[in-house]
Amino acid sequence: MDDVLIVGGGIAGLSLALALHHRGINARIFEAAAAFRPLGAGLNLLPHAVEVLAEIGLNNQIAETSVETYDSLFLNRHGQLIHREFRGLYNGHPWPQYSVHRVDLQRILVEEFTKRIGPDRLHLDARCVEVEQDANSVTVKLAAARDGRILGSWRGSILIGCDGVNSTVRNQFYPEEGDPIYAGVSMWRGVALMPRIFWGATMLLAGSLRTGKLVAYPVRRCSNQDSEQLLNWCAELRTKREAIVDWETLERRVDHVEKLFRELALPMIRFRDLLDRTDSILAFPMVDRNPLEKWTFGRVTLLGDAAHPMYPFGSNGACQAILDAKELARCLSLPIARTAALQAYETIRLPATREIVLLNRKGSPDEILEEVDRRTAGNRFQSIDNVISREEILRISTKYKSIAGIKRPSTNASAH
Ligand SMILES: Cc1cc2nc3c(=O)[nH]c(=O)nc-3n(C[C@H](O)[C@H](O)[C@H](O)COP(=O)(O)OP(=O)(O)OC[C@H]3O[C@@H](n4cnc5c(N)ncnc54)[C@H](O)[C@@H]3O)c2cc1C
Repeated sequence: MDDVLIVGGGIAGLSLALALHHRGINARIFEAAAAFRPLGAGLNLLPHAVEVLAEIGLNNQIAETSVETYDSLFLNRHGQLIHREFRGLYNGHPWPQYSVHRVDLQRILVEEFTKRIGPDRLHLDARCVEVEQDANSVTVKLAAARDGRILGSWRGSILIGCDGVNSTVRNQFYPEEGDPIYAGVSMWRGVALMPRIFWGATMLLAGSLRTGKLVAYPVRRCSNQDSEQLLNWCAELRTKREAIVDWETLERRVDHVEKLFRELALPMIRFRDLLDRTDSILAFPMVDRNPLEKWTFGRVTLLGDAAHPMYPFGSNGACQAILDAKELARCLSLPIARTAALQAYETIRLPATREIVLLNRKGSPDEILEEVDRRTAGNRFQSIDNVISREEILRISTKYKSIAGIKRPSTNASAH
């Protein structure tokens, strides 16, 4: 009988398998996709998540491909500076912050899984359709993703549902839950090779959800000689859900998105250029789910987006999944029953992530942008000091970080 069965080979499932392996526990992953396709765009690994990845020996691989984020600039829609914040080591954290393409991170995790744990323990085209358990074991029933043909089943001692926002494992325990909840914000996302912005390690957060907000940061390391760099971008707008339409051609998609974000006038990025240089524009609604009272049911628990899908504010989606993985691996290495370890993990991680899900609904560090937009009605300002004080900005930023578990060093942020 296998030890730990993991459903889902995303960032959460792969990080968990490697964290378990680091503690001498073997796991087996069942992933619905037939292959790891290059899907997605960028994500940020905050210092507390980088620390976990470094503990399991992945720091070098990640550092080689990704960008060590230097600072974040908060700008209004005209490109005027509201706030600057240094990141990672540059803000006194003991670990860097990395901006990385999700595809690169997943590739690194898959390569390390294959090297350390073995390719035979990573089952692709294996969609979990049902989980059963008795007093001694848990069994996952698997089907082929394409035609639903039942492939068979595997038995293990415990099972972790890492199968994302539309988790089958979660649904089995909460069949009445329904669809994820729409935030009233639509997002368009992509990556584009763009002229390097400043020193090639800056995250820009500009505009507001009312007029159109752009978050953009480079996700691949480049040398000083490179004038262009792969830039991840995500454009967000408060909309009715129907704003997300499926265009027949990329050209129509570009025109449509450009019109939606016509109020963005940033001097350092022409939005139309960004769209023209993007091969594939992904569009999706911003969603989350209500926090659950319970993740663990006997020999089964949930982790990552399956447990706590949240709005993608404050770079938390992948980071919280990685923190879950560390904690679950720690609990499973304790000399206690497997089921007690799952419960112990839930006791620590459920309240911590619940707070972030709820906080993201109320606001985020990006709330600074919304506040300035409200106070200026989207107009240019003469001096930011007349709009919002440095203390107010730091209060918004610090409150979020302390709840998200990002330890504050002595602050080095410079408002304005
Ligand atoms: C294709 C894709 C692209 C993404 N792009 C971005 C991005 O650009 N930026 C960003 O910040 N976040 C992105 N995300 C979300 C981000 O990866 C997650 O918020 C975060 O990393 C937590 O990861 P997760 O592993 O919990 O969930 P996910 O990343 O959603 O991974 C879940 C995995 O489970 C698999 N799965 C689902 N159902 C089953 C089943 N029944 N049986 C077996 N396997 C199943 C899925 O195929 C997927 O591989 C993306 C997610 C996906 C799936």
